[in-house]
Amino acid sequence: MHSFAYRNGSLHCENVDLESLARQHGTPLYVYSRGTILDHYRRLDASLGALDHLVCFATKACSNLAVLSALAKEGAGFDIVSGGELFRVLQAGGDPGKCTFAGVGKTRAEIEYALRQGIYCFNAESEAEVAFIDRVAGDLGVKAPVALRVNPNVDAKTHKYISTGKSENKFGIDFSVIREAYARAAALPNIELRGLQMHIGSQLTSVQPFVEAVAKVAPLAAELKALYGIRFFSIGGGIGIVYRDSLQSGPKTWWNDQEEAERPLTVETYASQVVPHLQSLGLRILLEPGRYLVGNAGVLLTEVLYEKRGSAKTFKIIDAGMNDLIRPALYEGHHEIVPVREPAADAVPEKVDVVGPVCESGDFFAQDREIAPVQPGEMLAVLSAGAYGFVMASNYNSRPLPAEILVDGDQAHVIRSRQSFGDLIAGERIPE
Ligand SMILES: *Cc1c(COP(=O)(O)O)cnc(C)c1O
Repeated sequence: MHSFAYRNGSLHCENVDLESLARQHGTPLYVYSRGTILDHYRRLDASLGALDHLVCFATKACSNLAVLSALAKEGAGFDIVSGGELFRVLQAGGDPGKCTFAGVGKTRAEIEYALRQGIYCFNAESEAEVAFIDRVAGDLGVKAPVALRVNPNVDAKTHKYISTGKSENKFGIDFSVIREAYARAAALPNIELRGLQMHIGSQLTSVQPFVEAVAKVAPLAAELKALYGIRFFSIGGGIGIVYRDSLQSGPKTWWNDQEEAERPLTVETYASQVVPHLQSLGLRILLEPGRYLVGNAGVLLTEVLYEKRGSAKTFKIIDAGMNDLIRPALYEGHHEIVPVREPAADAVPEKVDVVGPVCESGDFFAQDREIAPVQPGEMLAVLSAGAYGFVMASNYNSRPLPAEILVDGDQAHVIRSRQSFGDLIAGERIPE
């Protein structure tokens, strides 16, 4: 869908002009399209129509209350990885009965909180964790709903930092010993075995690893249903999005239907390949998409501060840094960077490094990249910044966190204020 496009010479999000938005609210500024998030949710939900299913948004990808609220109103569930995320989901009006709790290091306080709120299920990542959940549930006098996360040992063919489904990753329980783990969990007095879970990695751009994993694990799900009466099988998240879609290589609107056609992995392809393996199970199928729902629904707006011409390179120094968006530094993540004001048709691209103000050589957004020419004072948009963007932002270099805006048609709502200097030192004290 056309949520970010040039119109009248300026980049828009839905019907909102991003140049004026950036001037009004300052930069760096995160801007999300509500319409895009809901469109992606509805498409994925519809593609699973043949199954009893629940889409649980991976909250960690973008956890602003307004985003969670929009998805909760659509009926979404939530995959959470901390007590703090559960708190956010509840504050946003989400249903704890549709929450799954993932992560390898749940604490007693988090387990108690989740049990008291009545979450749908804990996705446990080790036998030690199952034993601990059993103890905590016993102390509270309740039974804890639990699914074990199986590590299917499938190569997701993605960046090593976001691959999770191989034996050498810290996630899940090895496929070769999962049956014994279920048998031991079934013997615990305060555990109700409710499901089976897997998640092989993030930003997968081919359907083949998903199919391989589902085909391998679906028979196990059937077996566990027969043995322990489990009710659901969560096949995780990981659907990749398009980060590379060069402005030079096509029509002037970088976000268009052609992009959809060129997607390496559409949800329709995903569903058509995966659903047949699941249909006969008679289990509820859970999905945990994060990036797919929000990644292309957000941009980071930033102002060009300076141009620095070195002997080897030209640097465009911008007012956003790795503390605002760490993906390039952390995962070698690629983000398209386009001027907010539409470049002239005959504009000659310049090969530059786009770098932030943070005192780290890793503080770059692009290296040796041809981008449309921009001068200091002009605005750039860092595209596809909706997932793992603001949520990973930090105060490093004592830089206040940016503001977040949610666009809905021609409305732009401030859904998080920019931090002040006062916010930076809140909670700090100088001892007498
Ligand atoms: C991070 C995570 C997801 C979401 O991954 P995406 O690539 O953003 O879809 C889903 N499930 C689990 C267990 C995760 O850790």
